[in-house]
Amino acid sequence: MSFVEIVVVGAGIAGLSCARALAEGGARVRVLDRGRVVGGRLASRRVDGRYADIGAAYLVADDPAFVAQTESWHARGLARPWTDTLRVYPEGTDTRGPVRWAAPGGLRSLAADLADGLDVRLSTPVASVESVARGADAVVLAMPGPQALKLSPPPAIASAAAAQSWRPVIAAVLTYPARSWNGLRGAFVNDHPVLATVFDDGDRRGDAAPVLVAHSTAELASEHLDAPAEAGPVLAAAVGELLGITDSPRIETHRWTYAQPEKTSEAPYASDGRVWLCGDAFGRPRVQTAWLSGRAVADALLGG
Ligand SMILES: Cc1cc2nc3c(=O)[nH]c(=O)nc-3n(C[C@H](O)[C@H](O)[C@H](O)COP(=O)(O)OP(=O)(O)OC[C@H]3O[C@@H](n4cnc5c(N)ncnc54)[C@H](O)[C@@H]3O)c2cc1C
Repeated sequence: MSFVEIVVVGAGIAGLSCARALAEGGARVRVLDRGRVVGGRLASRRVDGRYADIGAAYLVADDPAFVAQTESWHARGLARPWTDTLRVYPEGTDTRGPVRWAAPGGLRSLAADLADGLDVRLSTPVASVESVARGADAVVLAMPGPQALKLSPPPAIASAAAAQSWRPVIAAVLTYPARSWNGLRGAFVNDHPVLATVFDDGDRRGDAAPVLVAHSTAELASEHLDAPAEAGPVLAAAVGELLGITDSPRIETHRWTYAQPEKTSEAPYASDGRVWLCGDAFGRPRVQTAWLSGRAVADALLGG
C-alpha cells in the first residue's frame, strides 16, 4: 500500500519504532513531539556534564524482534548487557533475573538512533487529532492514553485510552561526593512508603560516576506532583537510610505524571478508522512493549 502521509504523534520508543518500520516499508512519515528531544520516558538528563537515566532504568529483551534490535544497538556500541542481579529490600538479598541492558550514552541515545534519518519535528505540541489529520492517510498517537484523550480522538480510541489507568513517579538524581555503596547495582524496594527503586547510574552507564537514581512510590509522587522538587530530599533521606550513606547528595528531580500504566490491554494497539493508539499500555509496561506496539501498528498499516 502506498501512503500519501502518515503522522505519528509522539517520539517516544513506540512512535519511533512505528515511524521507522513505516519508513522502511516505503511510507512517508512525519513524527511530531512536543518535547525538545526524542525519547519520551526513555529519558536521559544532563547533570554535571554527564547523562543520567531518569525514566526507564534499563531494557529487558525477550521478544525475538526486540532481541534483534537490542543486538543491533549492542553491535554498534550503543547498548550493553548490564546485570542480571539486583537487590530486593527490605530483605537486602540479591536476586537473579533476566539480563538488563543499559546504554553507555544514556538510554535516550537508543531513541535518537531510531530517529536518525526520520522526519521528526520537535517542540511541536499537537492540540487535536483533527489538526494533523488533514491530508494524512493515518494518524498514530504513540503516547499514554490520558495524553491521547486530550487530543479529542475518535470513540474507539477514546474508550481504549480511558480504560487505562496510570501511576505517577518522581525520579531523583542523587550526585554524591564519592561512591560508598559497594556491590549495589540497583534495588527494588518493596513496602516502602516513599522509595520504589534505586539504581547505580555510574555502574549501568559504565563511567563509575557517584550517581544514584531513585524512583518514588506513586503515593509520594501523588503528594508532590505540583512541587516535585520537594520530594527530592525525602527520596535522598530514604536512600541514605537504606544504603547507609552519610554523605549529602546534590539533588535533581523529574516528575513523570504518567509513568507506568496499572491496567494494560491484551491487544497490541487500538484503532478507529484512520486513527491508531499505541504505547506501553498494550502489554507489560516496559520499553520492549512500547517498541512492539509501535511496530504492530506499522505492520497493520503496511499490510492494510
Ligand atoms: C520512572 C520510570 C521507570 C521505568 N523503568 C523502566 C524499566 O526499568 N524498564 C523498562 O523496560 N521500562 C521502564 N519504564 C517504562 C518505559 O519508559 C516505557 O514503557 C516506554 O518508554 C514508553 O514509551 P512510549 O513511546 O509508549 O511512551 P512515551 O515515552 O511516554 O512517549 C510519548 C511521547 O508523546 C509525546 N506527546 C504526548 N502528548 C503529545 C502532544 N499532545 N503533542 C506532541 N507530543 C506529545 C511525549 O512528549 C512523549 O515524547 C519506566 C518508566 C518510568 C517513567
